[in-house]
Amino acid sequence: MATNLLNYDARRLADFCAEIGEKPFRAKQLLRWIHQSGVTDFVAMSDLAKGLREKLSALAVIESPQIMSDHEASDGTRKWLLAVGAGNGIETVFIPETNRGTLCVSSQVGCALACTFCSTGKQGFNRNLTVAEIIGQLWMANKLLKPDTEDVSPGTQRVVTNVVMMGMGEPLANFDNVVMALDLMLDDHAYGLSRRKVTVSTSGLVPALDRLRERCPVALAVSLHAPNDDLRDQLVPINKKYPLKELLAACQRYLAVAPRDFVTFEYVMLDGVNDSVSHAHELIKLVQDIPCKFNLIPFNSFPGSGFKRSSAESVRVFRDILLQAGLVTTVRKTRGDDIAAACGQLAGQVMDKTRRTANARAACIK
Ligand code: SAH
Ligand code: SF4
Repeated sequence: MATNLLNYDARRLADFCAEIGEKPFRAKQLLRWIHQSGVTDFVAMSDLAKGLREKLSALAVIESPQIMSDHEASDGTRKWLLAVGAGNGIETVFIPETNRGTLCVSSQVGCALACTFCSTGKQGFNRNLTVAEIIGQLWMANKLLKPDTEDVSPGTQRVVTNVVMMGMGEPLANFDNVVMALDLMLDDHAYGLSRRKVTVSTSGLVPALDRLRERCPVALAVSLHAPNDDLRDQLVPINKKYPLKELLAACQRYLAVAPRDFVTFEYVMLDGVNDSVSHAHELIKLVQDIPCKFNLIPFNSFPGSGFKRSSAESVRVFRDILLQAGLVTTVRKTRGDDIAAACGQLAGQVMDKTRRTANARAACIK
């Protein structure tokens, strides 16, 4: 079977070059062709020797997941459903803003962590995405969103300026593949994004968070959602394994090397569940020792969720209490509502094998 070069970061590509009898520096040229020019045909790689191009054509491919659907919302948000085999699909969302373009990338088919308010979590887990399937989302978006201009000096014309690992799945539960994809996002010969512009969002897998700190400390968002363990146990079940005290200690450790001097805490606003004035005060106390910002996410509903979005007034009151305590707090604008592209609405197509969910959950809470 042909080797899919989208699966390789710089080091693996250099190993691959060595295996086929080529100099390792060819890997850099290849990275640029694959990730910066978006070329899939080796014949078009004009600065590679003809012999090498022929060898590559025989041995390798550059393949990202097939697009099953492509929707654009009235606010410009774009959502792709990508086929990842066996009837499964994952979603990728592009959010254009005035001075930046953010791509929300998926890391798994489904998710085993079963947060009660999350559509992906409700569907169970099927499998981890490969490196090609993760980086392929950025590769594809850059290709499709390329501006209609001939001036494509590397990097400058990129429409995707920021990546957030906030699509389907828990990125830290697919650690090795996610980190290799992050390496490519940061590599100057590939996407050249700064560590500040790539964010991993996690529900709080503490050991993996420590490994991320050592291996590839990009910007960090932590899905907090509750100011105490009792409530968080119900909303984010992984909290039973890694309770708030441990999670917040891991955040402190992370901050020592993080590219930003704060952690972003995400907090989904659920009507009558976690959105009261006393919850806000409890939250302020909880994070008092941690440099952080808050991102309040009005709950995005989906069929059968059993939760309601907090009223605009409760969100405003909650935000103002945090602001008055000196915490930078934003309310996430719901984007792409008309195409179900908002946080927690990504459903994709998950052919769940219940046993897989159980096994994956066991692996996370081991
Ligand atoms: N698994 C990771 C990243 C994916 S979810 C995590 O949990 O952090 C990205 C964000 O969307 C998380 O903060 C998640 O809690 C939030 N989210 C999930 N379901 C939601 C919903 N229905 N409405 C609003 N936000 C939701
Ligand atoms: Fe998984 Fe994140 Fe959804 Fe929780 S919120 S079920 S960790 S994707």
